[in-house]
Amino acid sequence: MQQTWSRHLRYTLAGLAGATLAGLYMGYPVYGLTAGLGIYVLWTLNQTRRLAQWLVEPDATNEAPQSLGMWGDLFEKLHKLNQNYLHSRDRLRARIDRIQESTNAMRDGVIMTNAHGAMEWWNGSAEHLLGFRHNTDQGQYIYNLIRTPAFRSYFDAKNYHEPLELHSPAKPHIHLQIQISLFGEEDRLIMAKDVTRLHQLEQMRRDFVSNVSHEMRTPLTVISGYLETLVDNADELPAKWRRAVNTMATQSFRMETLITDLILLSRIETGEQEVDDTTTDIDRLIQQICQDAQTLSDQKQHEITFKSIGGHQLKGDEKQLRSAFSNLVFNAVKYTPAQGRITVSWFSNREGGHLSVKDTGAGIEQVHIPRLTERFYRADPSRHKDTGGTGLGLAIVKHVLINHDGNLEILSRFGEGSEFICHFPAERLVVDSAEHQS
Ligand code: ADP
Repeated sequence: MQQTWSRHLRYTLAGLAGATLAGLYMGYPVYGLTAGLGIYVLWTLNQTRRLAQWLVEPDATNEAPQSLGMWGDLFEKLHKLNQNYLHSRDRLRARIDRIQESTNAMRDGVIMTNAHGAMEWWNGSAEHLLGFRHNTDQGQYIYNLIRTPAFRSYFDAKNYHEPLELHSPAKPHIHLQIQISLFGEEDRLIMAKDVTRLHQLEQMRRDFVSNVSHEMRTPLTVISGYLETLVDNADELPAKWRRAVNTMATQSFRMETLITDLILLSRIETGEQEVDDTTTDIDRLIQQICQDAQTLSDQKQHEITFKSIGGHQLKGDEKQLRSAFSNLVFNAVKYTPAQGRITVSWFSNREGGHLSVKDTGAGIEQVHIPRLTERFYRADPSRHKDTGGTGLGLAIVKHVLINHDGNLEILSRFGEGSEFICHFPAERLVVDSAEHQS
């Protein structure tokens, strides 16, 4: 550019010198110089006009305007820059088109919104699954189109570790799993997956377990009833039958407990047992459970203590909470050797209410902890034989907590005891009025 500029300066000065010499030849050197300068200014103005015109419509023609000297170079360079820009723009557009094409081919709905939830873009599956319309819904807030309150709280909470399940607002028979990811400046990428089939299969599994359990209950009650009568009159039985009848009675009692737990679990899981959000007096409930646990402990003589700090009660279903808490306390009794200590604490803080059941029992190896709440999962199958457990207790606890917006934390070290903590959100706490007044 430096070179072009000095050549341009040389030619300009030579042109002006020529004009001055021509003027001198005619006896008017100043007029000659003035005329030269005037022509130069007019030419420069004309080039500026051409540049301005070309900049306004750079791609109206594929050619750069032709000119002399520095202006010619300038036009050429700008033309190249413009060509590069047009190529990159086309490449980028082709790439965006391809991404949009591939996301359109996806079976899952994909939606992009800004930080406030205004919809910017979505694919064809989102239109099909959620009923969005391109011409009317662009720029609308997504929570005005998916009006379920759970979706609004999920969207605002920004905690997207777990997906959210809901019915499609446009086609209620479609069951959707929503997963949100944050990108850019808190913009959201929302994926909506059709899980209707999975949901139906899961429902079929639950119905099957529930039906079989109900069907088995009646014959089993009859068998248990007769066995009980036989055990009561064992003296009248031939000696060789007594042992068999006693074993049959024990096993039929175990089966009855199993069926009762299966029915309870399927009720809690399917929501058949509605969560009754009345206030539950946790102190009273735990005291009753601890008394039952003391009876269960019997000759093992555990030291069972209950501490309550914070003076809060809990909004929730007392029956479900009783099942969950008694499973935890009775497990502590089952898995803690004689004379061991079991401490139950109910306390509240800013995060919410927490019920902890701590024992000095056998403890659990770390590998088992993530799987303990699965149905029939046992940390040590040989150990549970004498406890008479069904393997469903912690699954019941987990589902009761899900119904109460809570979660279960398990802390344990093999050989050093265990602690099971039920966490409930602060919204479920109710100030204990009796305690408050005193
Ligand atoms: P179970 O009827 O077998 O007790 P649960 O679902 O209640 O079934 O518990 C699952 C498994 O977790 C138990 O089999 C046991 O291995 C382990 N477990 C539960 N509570 C405790 C505890 N307090 N101490 C040690 N292990 C425990």
